[in-house]
Amino acid sequence: MAGTLKGDGTEEFKGLRITSLDDDSDQEEEQREQDIAMDDDDEEEEDEEARNSVILGFLKKPKKARSLLRHFFPSKAGGVPAWLDPENLPSGRSCFCDICGEPLQFVLQVYAPEEKESAFHRTLFVFMCTSMVCLRRDQHEQWKCQRDKPSRSVKVFRCQLPRDNPFYSSEPPKKDSTDDPLKAGAALCSWCGTWKGSKRCTGCRKALYCSEKHWVKHSRSGHEHDCQRLRIQLGDSSSANSESTSTVILKVASNHLWPEYKIIQEPESSYDTEMPDDNVGTNSLISSNRMDDGLMSIADNFTGDGDRKSWASFHVRIALAPEQILRYCRSPGATPLWPVSSGRPSTADIPKCSYCSGPMCFEFQIMPQLLFYFNVKNDVDSLDWATIAVYTCEASCDASVVYKEEFAWVQLS
Ligand SMILES: [Zn+2]
Ligand SMILES: [Zn+2]
Ligand SMILES: [Zn+2]
Ligand SMILES: [Zn+2]
Repeated sequence: MAGTLKGDGTEEFKGLRITSLDDDSDQEEEQREQDIAMDDDDEEEEDEEARNSVILGFLKKPKKARSLLRHFFPSKAGGVPAWLDPENLPSGRSCFCDICGEPLQFVLQVYAPEEKESAFHRTLFVFMCTSMVCLRRDQHEQWKCQRDKPSRSVKVFRCQLPRDNPFYSSEPPKKDSTDDPLKAGAALCSWCGTWKGSKRCTGCRKALYCSEKHWVKHSRSGHEHDCQRLRIQLGDSSSANSESTSTVILKVASNHLWPEYKIIQEPESSYDTEMPDDNVGTNSLISSNRMDDGLMSIADNFTGDGDRKSWASFHVRIALAPEQILRYCRSPGATPLWPVSSGRPSTADIPKCSYCSGPMCFEFQIMPQLLFYFNVKNDVDSLDWATIAVYTCEASCDASVVYKEEFAWVQLS
């Protein structure tokens, strides 16, 4: 069974650090070469190095919801983000779909600290609009990145903190810790629990919202009743016993958020030679067969040879661990595993870091399997993608903006 990269117990902050993974023997290496012989030859070599250090992410229902709170530095999918810097959240147009104007929904976050001191803690956050119409338009916008500010429906933010910071102890959290974060953090939207609550309900003057849209949604689904009640309470007494101090586990009114999971990690190298064993299957919500069906249905739509070839190598690789929802690799020269050859970005399509103007490099990709776990329907109007590749500033630069916007490339199926 595979080892994990979780660090050695409580002494370490857990995270996707690139550490030296077990080296495969040359023999195994050759075998794999043959298995993936359908790859393009010229990509084979640069791919080779990356192949050794891919970390796969899988989803698991958390035993305790607490373990996904921000002071445990979680990697998680669905629900609400565990903001690393809980005060200086993204604001303004960053929080909204540039196409339809709806507040974006939280997809996942990856805790991926780096060696440099200012990125002792480092988390990447992915958000997207839930509308497939917007994602289709986003397809055209992502090519524009070099020219003008594109209108995106998928956004990625990077936040990093030094070990000594105002929000967290410099010591790692203890395993069964019951302590709360040092500070409460910014008040969040009562509806989505995701973005900063910057607008106050005019009725109760208590509930906060990220946008008028979410205030309207909440009102329509019953806040108006609460609003009356809150107004009476507020009239009764000063709000000395308000809930503001006990916001550790957040109550969110929206029932449209995606279900919440913990992301657990395994090196891909541990899946190299055999098919995943039963241990992997038992925790999962969907069988490999069902997953395969879903993946194969993508293949039915291909016409070109290039796409077929690319699909075949993609499928061979994914079949080793079909439930992966994330592939992480920050080795130099790492590239995403593209399901189809058309619609891939060239190097020139990847923009420079908008903060330091340095290069951006591939860091991780999100797999379509995530849609199964998010219970997204499989019809024409529902959200769907072949992969979402995330590129980040190679230097993890420090800019004055706390949540730095990085780049996502979406490939549709
Ligand atoms: Zn949208
Ligand atoms: Zn909101
Ligand atoms: Zn109200
Ligand atoms: Zn940068």
